[in-house]
Amino acid sequence: WTEGTIADAENSLTELAALAETAGSQVLEGLIQRRTRPDPATYIGRGKVDDLGAVVLSTGADTVICDGELSPSQLRNLEQRTKVKVVDRTALILDIFAQHAKSKEGKAQVELAQLQYLLPRLRGWGETLSRQTGGSGRGGGAGGGVGVRGPGETKLETDRRRIRHRISRLRREIKNMRTVRVTKRARRTRNSIPAVAIAGYTNAGKSSLLNRLTDAGVLVENALFATLDPTTRKATASDGRVYTLSDTVGFVRHLPHQIVEAFRSTLEEVAEADLVVHVVDGTHPDPEEQVRAVHEVLAEVSADRLPELLVVNKIDAADEDTLLRLKRLWPDAIFVSAYSGRGIEDLRSAIEDRLPQPAVEVRAVVP
Ligand code: GDP
Repeated sequence: WTEGTIADAENSLTELAALAETAGSQVLEGLIQRRTRPDPATYIGRGKVDDLGAVVLSTGADTVICDGELSPSQLRNLEQRTKVKVVDRTALILDIFAQHAKSKEGKAQVELAQLQYLLPRLRGWGETLSRQTGGSGRGGGAGGGVGVRGPGETKLETDRRRIRHRISRLRREIKNMRTVRVTKRARRTRNSIPAVAIAGYTNAGKSSLLNRLTDAGVLVENALFATLDPTTRKATASDGRVYTLSDTVGFVRHLPHQIVEAFRSTLEEVAEADLVVHVVDGTHPDPEEQVRAVHEVLAEVSADRLPELLVVNKIDAADEDTLLRLKRLWPDAIFVSAYSGRGIEDLRSAIEDRLPQPAVEVRAVVP
């Protein structure tokens, strides 16, 4: 469910399909319904549920993915009516994050987000935890079994209790890992090395640009969310000044609040930067919407007041009219192609121009 026009809904659905493919699904068919608000019981209207059931039957689909966040009861009702697994946008994004997290901190953050999503959705008897975490193997190992239940406690209560324990443990672990990162950052600040954060919508080309600017050899994937773990590299300006460049987590529309919450410490790192390089995909059908979505997340972590350098990437593949329109819209933006290298030198000097100037140390030199 999207506020806005049918075109907005279609864009959002196209992105959902791309997300589903990133998660390894084959997308068969899309269904849109125009409503003023979601049906409290079944999300889509009751008649539309029958249409959905028919589509499931005719295509042989085994999963329905819904573009929005379903309440626990909406999810249950839809599953009962369609007889297949129902997943919402949030669960899908969490699944992709789980597949892509590489660092220990990233993994812990995703697991925390998944458990927070799962907790209110735990069902009663007979439902095992592994089924509900979508088989991503991060259920915290709570499976229940003989001997683990307290006297008179239902399995559901046991599961909830275990999950709460696991959640507080993960919170502690993440906090500790954060302390280590903060210490590293403090060292950097002491040495007054300016920091540049590369932010942008997922798949905009942040990793590719980081590679171009630093020869870092960061993994580049044509998949949404290739970037989960922040990568920091050193770069040297033409005048010899050293600064750091960090890649941040990919942003996406309707980023589940559990994700923003879990990745808060990573996102907050952006707020510590001296400059945000905001990368926009020039080939995207709605670059302005991407920019808005990124600004929303930046505002959530109070990184919206930092100096920002807007960079339109993929100009090798973007259409001329779009580029002209974007140039008028964002006269100060830098237009580049991480692929061909066009504009990269301009970007490098634009970054250098915006770096804070080092404090000049004045010493009296006595001959
Ligand atoms: P990130 O998610 O923002 O880090 O994006 P990536 O750097 O992983 O790039 C996402 C996709 O866009 C990959 O398939 C890249 O090959 C592609 N890409 C990145 N830069 C360019 C570019 O300048 N031109 C074109 N045509 N594709 C690009």
